[in-house]
Amino acid sequence: MKTEAFRKHAHQLVDWMADYLEQIERYPVKSQSKPGDLLAQLPAQAPQKGEAFEDIFRDFEHKILPGITHWQHPSFFAYFPANSSPASVLAEMLMATLGVQGMVWETSPAATELEERMMQWLRDACGLPAHWHGVIQDTASTASLCAILSARERATGFQSNESGLYEQARLRIYASEQTHSSIEKDVKIAGLGKENLVYIDTDACYALRPEALRQAIEEDLRRGYHPMMVVANIGTTGSTAIDPLPAIAAIAKEYGLWLHVDAAYAGTACLLPEYRHIIEGIEHADSYVFNPHKWMLTNFDCSAYYVSDKETLLRTFSILPEYLKTGLEGQVNNYRDWGIALGRRFRALKLWFVLRSYGIEGLQKILRRHLALAQWFKQQVESHPDFELMAPVPLNLVCFRYHPQNIDDPNRLNELNEALLRRLNASGKLYMSHTKLHGQYVLRLVCGQTYVQERHVQQAWQLIEAESQRLSRLLSLV
Ligand SMILES: *Cc1c(COP(=O)(O)O)cnc(C)c1O
Repeated sequence: MKTEAFRKHAHQLVDWMADYLEQIERYPVKSQSKPGDLLAQLPAQAPQKGEAFEDIFRDFEHKILPGITHWQHPSFFAYFPANSSPASVLAEMLMATLGVQGMVWETSPAATELEERMMQWLRDACGLPAHWHGVIQDTASTASLCAILSARERATGFQSNESGLYEQARLRIYASEQTHSSIEKDVKIAGLGKENLVYIDTDACYALRPEALRQAIEEDLRRGYHPMMVVANIGTTGSTAIDPLPAIAAIAKEYGLWLHVDAAYAGTACLLPEYRHIIEGIEHADSYVFNPHKWMLTNFDCSAYYVSDKETLLRTFSILPEYLKTGLEGQVNNYRDWGIALGRRFRALKLWFVLRSYGIEGLQKILRRHLALAQWFKQQVESHPDFELMAPVPLNLVCFRYHPQNIDDPNRLNELNEALLRRLNASGKLYMSHTKLHGQYVLRLVCGQTYVQERHVQQAWQLIEAESQRLSRLLSLV
């Protein structure tokens, strides 16, 4: 494609992008595609000859879009959002155009130095300890893997990188049973074995019980195991439960455990001074992760990973083959040594655009709106005789279920809510997801989409109410 054609098509696409965002509510939130729908429309082989942009774009509209779930739709209430914003999209366009690979300072000094400053801005804006160092990782899964590998190195006197884990006592990791599945995956990748991830019971609010943590550690010590790390959740994925950080930190200190804090979603709330209590005790953490790509209006992927001791991180990951020597080692950050991948995208640029475009106050305003919407929805659930709140709502996720007064069989309730969710999502008018809390099937509604307004949450509640009644009539429950 010649530059002139690029210019023309880029302008067309920007118009399309603005129209898309303006008219996004015309699309079904959740893709209505069936398995194999798109594959059946795609040629089995790549074309031998280049094709016209118009043809490629027509297929994008007609073949690809139907298979898209619209994460930027204001009625997207599922999982946690993967938010975007106009400022972030513009930065992504520039990033794609520059095509920078920022593995070392020299391969784009601005990419490295902007990342350094953005991590400081975010650290200070969220009230994190002033001596911490941050680095952008692709995802929280990767950040937590970095934490586990660093903890493994520290616990073995940096021997596991040298000679493996063959001569080590069993290294043990503790986390609540509500912990995100990425921790189990990371433990497997780190070569520790998932049997050595010990799940700790939670209380009625789905937060880790410190006494149970202490018991598990004591029992492991009696068996000759090596307690190495505890993962505390600030905002679990199931219900945004907040683990008691001060109590966990005290235990971590007593037994010499690495304390990793996973605040992948909830960490963004710390931009609000009135929510900083959720990370009380954070100064005792060894590592911390939160995802601006979830709730902070920054396109996926962008995870902020912080450590209290940079040297341990660097000692775990540093490599210096001849072809990567630049003569500037020690003077500048070479972020390839701060994580797993060598190659790195210029992710700091989108943070810079977002933070400057909204300002901290602009972001705070949006977060407060989201938090208030969730409280409104929670009140509707609580004041309805046939609905039930299933977990506290410390932030903007409401866990609830339909519970008609004449049904009490737990399996029946689970099936009913599963059916309700399927019908709601098939409507295309909203998208929610579910989880199980202590065996109960629970609907999750997150009020955190960048563009969500009061009317979308009100409409969601009306739909849920109406659909539950329709379902009850269908099943002759009433
Ligand atoms: C979403 C989430 C993760 C995983 O995030 P990725 O960036 O997709 O890896 C980890 N922990 C918690 C608590 C989460 O909510």
